[in-house]
Amino acid sequence: MKAFVSGGAGFIGSHLVDSLIENGHTVTVYDNLSSGDKQFIQHHLHQENFTFIKADLLDLKRVKKEIQGHDIVFHLAANPHVRLGEKQTDLDLNQGIVATYNILEAMRHSSIKKIVFSSSSVVYGETQESSLSETYGPTLPISLYGAGKLGAEGLISAFCGTFDFQTWIYRFANVVGARGTHGVIVDFIEKLKKNPKELEILGDGKQCKPYLYVSDCVDGILFGFTHAQEKMNLFNLSCDTTTTVTRIAEMVAEEMKLKNVSFKYTGGIRGWKGDVPRFQLDAQKINTLGWKATLTSDEAVRKAIRDVLHANL
Ligand code: NAD
Repeated sequence: MKAFVSGGAGFIGSHLVDSLIENGHTVTVYDNLSSGDKQFIQHHLHQENFTFIKADLLDLKRVKKEIQGHDIVFHLAANPHVRLGEKQTDLDLNQGIVATYNILEAMRHSSIKKIVFSSSSVVYGETQESSLSETYGPTLPISLYGAGKLGAEGLISAFCGTFDFQTWIYRFANVVGARGTHGVIVDFIEKLKKNPKELEILGDGKQCKPYLYVSDCVDGILFGFTHAQEKMNLFNLSCDTTTTVTRIAEMVAEEMKLKNVSFKYTGGIRGWKGDVPRFQLDAQKINTLGWKATLTSDEAVRKAIRDVLHANL
């Protein structure tokens, strides 16, 4: 299989690339390195079945040229920061929706019909549900990032309906692990390196979410892709448990061997406007197909803290 991976130099994308190469596939990474890192794919650069293209998805002409000759697209490139939309309101419109349109349009020109997409739990918005299944609706995101993901899902679905594409859309929980460059774990570690006595925690610390280890995430993506053959394959990708932000802070302090760290909460139920403070994803659909996360949410967080602290690549 010849796979085109947008965002393949990023955190999750680079792990996916490792798996694809390991399984003998030919891979092209298309990434502008805006939040990715060439170091994450360094070990593949000399390989014959690997190509790296440093370019932007907003350059439609270039995407059309480079996508030719592939069998499948794994589309992971996006702005990864949920918070940024508050300051830059067209960011997710461009990096989420226009970039996805460019991928789909380039695929249409090259008669490539299969697309795997990294969506997010944030498309569900803030709900009263204890556990969200893929059939939950209406999906009303509360962040511009979430709107970008939902818009991208809509476009992909429309290309399936209009041009006979086939898709695997995954709504990820929070993904953590080696090569992690953003998110609550990285944030706490950086803050505690600067000041080991005090840690500022956004919100009241009771935010509670599922954390999925990155290798489980990649296994889930490839498992669903191999075992589900509907035209539209939509899956939540998550473990069954959740972790609070305060628990993450405690685990980071433990792993950094810091005692008596004082936690300073900024207050309020959410970390920032657009943050969904509590949710759980129902992963039964993909569980029934035969995939299950190997690590619980707490185990994933603990392992990811160690990865980030020891700069595991
Ligand atoms: P990441 O920032 O590490 O990866 C995104 C990659 O896309 C980066 O390498 C970046 O350089 C590249 N990129 C961004 N805009 C681009 C553009 N216009 N053209 C070309 N390349 C571009 O983030 P990640 O955490 O690995 O996330 C990967 C995907 O998974 C994203 O779509 C993200 O929204 C989604 N996702 C991530 C999480 C999570 O917890 N990490 C949760 C849900 C969904």
